Order: sequence, then C-alpha cells, then structure tokens
Amino acid sequence: MTVTEWHNLPADEALQKLDTAAVVGLTPAEAERRLRDHGANRLPEAPRRPGWLRFALQFHNPLIYVLLVAGGVTAMLGSHVDAGVIMGVVLINAVIGHIQEGKAEQALAAVRSMLAERATVLRGGERHQIDAAHLVPGDIVLLEAGDRVPADLRLLQTRNLRTIESALTGESTTVEKDSLAAPADAGIGDRHGMAFSGTLVAYGTGTGVAVATGAATEIGRIGTLVGDVQTLATPLTRRLDQFARQITAFILVVAALTLAYGHLVVQMPMMDLFLAVVGLAVAAIPEGMPAVVTIVLAIGTRVMARKRAIVRRLPAVESLGSVTVICSDKTGTLTRNEMTAVLVVLPEGEISVSGTGYAPEGGFHRDGEVLAADRDAALVALLHCALLCNDARIRRGEDGQWTLAGDPTEGALVTLAHKAGMDAATLAQNHPRLDAIPFESERQYMVTLHHDHAGHHELLLKGAPERVLALCRTQQGGQALDAAWWHQAIERAGGGGERVLALARCDWPATQHEVQTEDLAPRFEMLGLVGIIDPPREEAIAAVAECQQAGIRVKMITGDHAVTAAAIGRQLGLNADRALTGDVIATLDDAALRQAAQQTDVIARASPEHKLRLIAALQAQGHLVAMTGDGVNDAPALKAADIGVAMGGKGTDAAREASDLVLTDDNFATIARAVREGRVVYDNIKKSLMHMLPTNGGEAGVILLAIFAGLPLPVTAGQILWVNTVTSVTLALSLAFEPAEPGVMRHPPRRPDEPVITRALGLRILFVIALMVMATFWVFHWELGRGASLETARTAAVNTIVFCELFYLFNVRHFTRHALRADTLTGNRVALLVAAILVVLQLLFTYAPPMQRLFASQPLPGDSWAMILTMGAILFALVELEKALLRRTRVRRL
Ligand code: ADP
Ligand code: MG
Repeated sequence: MTVTEWHNLPADEALQKLDTAAVVGLTPAEAERRLRDHGANRLPEAPRRPGWLRFALQFHNPLIYVLLVAGGVTAMLGSHVDAGVIMGVVLINAVIGHIQEGKAEQALAAVRSMLAERATVLRGGERHQIDAAHLVPGDIVLLEAGDRVPADLRLLQTRNLRTIESALTGESTTVEKDSLAAPADAGIGDRHGMAFSGTLVAYGTGTGVAVATGAATEIGRIGTLVGDVQTLATPLTRRLDQFARQITAFILVVAALTLAYGHLVVQMPMMDLFLAVVGLAVAAIPEGMPAVVTIVLAIGTRVMARKRAIVRRLPAVESLGSVTVICSDKTGTLTRNEMTAVLVVLPEGEISVSGTGYAPEGGFHRDGEVLAADRDAALVALLHCALLCNDARIRRGEDGQWTLAGDPTEGALVTLAHKAGMDAATLAQNHPRLDAIPFESERQYMVTLHHDHAGHHELLLKGAPERVLALCRTQQGGQALDAAWWHQAIERAGGGGERVLALARCDWPATQHEVQTEDLAPRFEMLGLVGIIDPPREEAIAAVAECQQAGIRVKMITGDHAVTAAAIGRQLGLNADRALTGDVIATLDDAALRQAAQQTDVIARASPEHKLRLIAALQAQGHLVAMTGDGVNDAPALKAADIGVAMGGKGTDAAREASDLVLTDDNFATIARAVREGRVVYDNIKKSLMHMLPTNGGEAGVILLAIFAGLPLPVTAGQILWVNTVTSVTLALSLAFEPAEPGVMRHPPRRPDEPVITRALGLRILFVIALMVMATFWVFHWELGRGASLETARTAAVNTIVFCELFYLFNVRHFTRHALRADTLTGNRVALLVAAILVVLQLLFTYAPPMQRLFASQPLPGDSWAMILTMGAILFALVELEKALLRRTRVRRL
C-alpha cells in the first residue's frame, strides 16, 4: 500500500501494520533499529548560498562601488601601485566581512540548534521525553495542547483534540480531530484521523502512532525545508546601511568639489589631484561598518546563549537594550516552582503541615499537637480528592532524591497525601478514572470522574477557590456552604503568599461515563482548602531590583488570587498596591486600563487575553514591552510584545515558536541578564562608530585641508590608502569585544527612536577630526622645518595618524569614564592584540625596504617617534578632558 492511505485505515490496523502496541509502544532496541532503517526524523536542510556567492555579495554595497570605480580609474591613469592598494582595501574588507558573516551565521545556527524539539512517546510501556529527531514509525506519541506534532500520526485516541494545520494547508482555523478512518480520497484537511508533522495542537489531548517521519511526512513531501535563511539584517543595520549611503553621497559631493577646486583654483597637476581625491574618498568611507555591526550582534547572541537566553530573532538583540517594561509570569519564572503544601483548611479548622520539597517527610499539626492524619475522616476525604484529581507523580531516584513528573502544584498535593500515608497506585486501582476535564489557566479548575467497582460514580473537583466555591452547595459534615467563612480563610492564606486550591466532590449518576464542562452545576460538597507556598527565587528578587534601577518596570502576571499575588509581589519588591485582576481588566476601557496599568505592578487572575490588552495599553504609552509566556494561548501575546519571551523548560512549542527569546532556565533573572547584554551590544556598536567615524574623518580631513589650503600633501594618496587598510576594520572591530560598562544597568533605557549619532557623539566626531588634522600637520611641518626630506616628513605624518587612532582607541573604550585605570589595559585583550599588530605593521611600513619602495617611506629617527607619541598622548589627554567635562554635566553615554 502507498504511504498516503494511512488515514483510510482503522487505527488498530495501522498499529498492526507498524508492528507496535498502543499501550507499550516500541521497545528501546526496536526503536533504535528502526532509527537506523528510517533515518532521523528531520526535514532536509535548506541549501545555504554557495560560498562564492556570499563572498561576491560582500561587494554589493555602495561604499564598495565607489572604491571599485576609484580603483579602476586610478589603474587607467597608470598609477598601478595605488590601484593595487585600493583593490587590496576592497579585498581585505570583503575577506574580513565574509569571515565575520560566516561566523555570525554559525553562531546563530549553533544557538538555534540548542532549541531541539522534543516529543513525548511510550517506549517499553513507559513515558519518555525524547529528541523529536529520534522518533521512528511505530512510536506511540502523546500530544497535548501547545505541542508541535513531531511526525505524521495516525490518531488512536483523542480528547477534544484540535490542531492548527496552517503550516501544511495555509488554513489558520483549528481542525477537529478524532481517531476514525477517513475516506480514501479525503484531502489533507479532511483526514481527521491523522495529525500531521509540523502542525500545532491548539486544544485537547491525543495519542497517535507515528506512520511517517522526516522527509516521508506530508510536510516533507511538499518540499518544506528547515532553517529559513537567517538574515543578519536588523532595524539597526538597516538604519546604518542608510546612513552609510548618505555618507557616501556626501563624500562624493565633497570629492567632486575638491577636484574642481584643486583643478581650477589651486591648479594642481590633474594626476596628483585625482589620486589625492581618490585617497580622500577611500579614507572617508567607513567601509568596515557593516562587518563591525554584524560581528557585535553575533557576539552578543553568543554571550546571551551562554547566559541561557537564546535569541530566535536577531533584531531582539538590539531592542532588548531599550526595553522599558518587562511583564513576567509569576509561577516558575519569578518563583521557584517548587511547591509545598503547608496548610489545610477543613470546616472544623486549620491544620499546618511540616516538611519542604517533594519528599513525603513531615506531618500534620493542629494547634501545635501532632495529628494522626489517617484517623481524621475529613482530612482523609480531602486528601483522597487531592490524590485522585491529579496527574502528577513523585518518584524517589537512585540518589534518594524525590523528583516530580508533572505539574508542581499537583506534585505538592501528591506529597501532601503521601505524608498521610496514602498510596497513589492503590487508590487509583480502587477508584479508576473514567473521564477528566484537564486543568487550564482560563478555567482554573480540573475535574475527574471515578468509580469504585461497586457501582458508585463520583466527581472530584479542584481549582481556584472562587471557581470551586461557586460550584458548591454544601460542605463536609453536611451543613450548607458557609461561603463567607471560606472567603476569610482564603484571604488569610493568600495574605501570606500561599497559592490556595479548593477541593470538592459530588456523586454522579452511575449511568454517565463522561463529564463535560457544561454538565457542571452547583451541586458539589466543599472538602476544604490547601495552601501551597512557592517562594520567590532569590536571584529574581535581585534581578527585579536591578531592572528597577535601570529604569525598567517589572510587572508580574499570574493566574493566582490577587491576595496571593500581592504578597509575592511585595516579597519581590514590586508595587503591589491596587493589584489589578482579570475581572477588573474586563470592565475597563482602553484608556482606563492604561491608567490602571500605570498604578500597579501586579496583575492577578489574568488570562492570556488580558496579556494582549495589557501589552496594547503599555505600548500606547510608548513603552517597549517584553512579555513572557508559556502556554498555547500565550502565542498571540508573545507576538504582540516587542520582545516575546518563551520558557525553554516548561513552555509549549507553540509559545516558543511565537517568541523572540527563549529562556533555557525559565528564570526571570535571565531576562534581566539578556537586557543587560542587549545594552552592551548597543554600546559596543556605538563605540565602534565612535572610533571609526572620526578616524576616517581625520584621514580625509588631512587631505582635504592640504588641497584647499594649497599646501603640499602631508600624506600621499597611496599612504592614506595604507592607513585606511591597516586601521579601518581592526581597531574599531576590537571594540566589539568590549566588556560591559560598569553601571550599564544604572541608567534609564535608551529611547527606541534615539538617533544613532546623537549630538554629543557628533561633537566628539568633529573634535577628534580637528585634533587629528592638527597633529598631522604639526608633525609634518615640524619635520620639514628641521630640514627633513619630504618623504621623511610624510612617513612621520602617516605614523602620527595611526598612533593618534591607536591612542584614541583607549579613550573610546569607556563613554565618559576616565581611561587611566587598570582595566584600560586588562579589560579587552583583543584591543591590546590589535594595538600590538598595528605597531608591528607601522614598523614594517617605516623600516622594511619593500614597503619603502611601495609607499616612498623613510626610516625615522628616535626624536621623530618621540614627537609622534607626544601627539598621540596629547590627543588622548584632550579627549579625556572632554570626557571629564561631560561627566560634570552628568552625561554618561554619548
Ligand atoms: P500562574 O499563571 O501563576 O501559573 P495558573 O493559571 O497556573 O497561575 O493558576 C491559576 C489558579 O488555578 C491557581 O491560583 C490555582 O488556584 C489554580 N490551579 C493551578 N494549577 C492547578 C491545577 N493543576 N489543578 C487545579 N487548579 C489549579
Ligand atoms: Mg501555572
């Protein structure tokens, strides 16, 4: 039979054909054998652009076009050395750009591959989380809301299963699934008994047997490839590209004017003049800029990955630096998600529980007296519900440590029941589950239906207390429900930061084997409350403080009760007065919501749809919002936020796919670290520009001034090309490796619309250009004045330019902090390395005979060097002086 007809096969026949069993799955050995036969469950990778094409694209840049034309004309004019040097500049730049871009792409790919997809399968009768690439035909796969379907599955069992098949059919509405066979001629969209690889589970749960993996899946067959070509473009690089084009146009105009002036007014010989103008243009063009920006971004993503923040979209790296609000989930992100039940409230009073963590060690106490839990009927009834209406398991590992499989809130209840000596397996055997409504954040409760082998059916309910109380009519002991009393107990427990769950039960007609949300009516008997603590993470408290210092508001969003949320919020240092709740948000219009969101940092009983409205309200106030999320329904909010942050651990595939950033440790502190890194990235791009622009300008300024003043050129065209080649990329690039400025997290976020070249930066650029031009002319004329040859004077001038740039590098390493400190020498090894290389190159330029022949350079005496270094030192000192002035006016960054 052909592969396409699985949908037409009854489920058990599919199982037979695949030689597998629904309740056990494949044995590990069989799975391994099939993996060898069928290959990894991966789609073929998109072919990368061939190397030569990517290299050729390095030349596709207006800056380079100008250089190429200049080189061509120079060659035609017969000046082959200069033409050769220009081509050398272009080539070196392309090679560096090519290497850097390759590295950047590799870094991104490596970071991406850290997000391997996982699948839940049954193997040898046990549930396992495996790498989706290791899935084979015949594997039994378990699906739940938020999962990405890892292979083509013939469904065996479904419960309200709905998938989104837009990846396959382009249809974005959800499709209902069941386990029935479809007609042989059904189209993809009508094969309701199948779940297709690459589609998302929007709702419900299901089990299926993998019938096709990798390229054999439907999505593989339509030729979909993974690894959508990652572009290295971001809003910032686009802005800089535009800036580069403007500079180019400006330089061309200046060059044309210079040519006209030199020819008509100064009447320089055309050949010399033309070469000088070419030198001017080449020097002025910041051709290394794209490479530098790319490498800074790539280094940033790598550093973030090392700090457990995986960047899925490159632009996030730079927008992180201007985040003004971080909206974070509470449970698991700000808190540890290690839940411990510490309190039980029964109609006759409170019982406290000792012990921490998931180890079932500890006991029950009432009024300070130890309580024999198994003899307290009310407590037993409550724990019975807690253990049965529950999907979590605790297990003791070989190391004696207790670990949890499942939801931490439920894990806390399992541990609680174990502390009373109950056994989950026995209880489940005596009261088998017939049906269930799983917990969902929107509903805030969970229901299970059980029977007792004696013909009695019972419904068990657990969830947020308001929801549960609304469904109760009586309470344990048979009295009518005393709602006011329970609400007091809830407030009391919540005030200490405890998450409160209510548990209830009711009888159910023995004729009914199913339960739907619509069937639930106020007929339950309230069993009691359980108070669960989930302490804030220590590092989250510190990170919240750090963010607040950095002018970033942190808002906590949770499904928990407002009182609980406010208590935890206060422990985290948030403004928890006037905490908003989902119910209130629903009554507010947009304007009122903007106001309310301003006044508090705590949003309780919130659902994903409230997150969306909150983002809109904050964005309307000009905020740049980072928002965390982990559920399927969080995807729209993650997309709407400026930076969507998904959880790598507990998050769903759906959330991860909608996000810009994934936290591999689910920890709020990691977001703060990523923001900090985003600021460093932007700072380092700034610093690269702060070095590149004035030094290019200085080189050009020297020639410009000479022509307009009718003076002899202090450096020849060939020499300026040399300077440009050895300094343009090297020096500025070393700033990409600059560590964070101390205090990066002590100033408010950069405004997203702040221009790259601020006024302070513009002034600095002009200042340094002026200093470099003056220093160069001074040395040149000093040499001539003391009788040195023109060649010697020019050699000294060239060295002056280069050493001024070198000294200036150490000014630029900090925006306005002074540079006379130890870390100026130790903080950035790359800068030192580059400095050493540059010194060697200049010694070669000055003393090596082939260089002397090429560039007409001459050996310099010691006092020339003394003068050159003095000039560098003066420039350094003057820039430090300017920094000191800026510090006095409280400018911290340029
Ligand atoms: P959070 O956003 O903080 O994770 P949730 O949406 O998970 O909050 O939970 C909201 C409320 O639902 C909790 O305060 C609790 O009362 C209840 N709840 C949480 N988990 C479960 C569960 N597994 N079963 C039943 N009720 C739950
Ligand atoms: Mg939760």
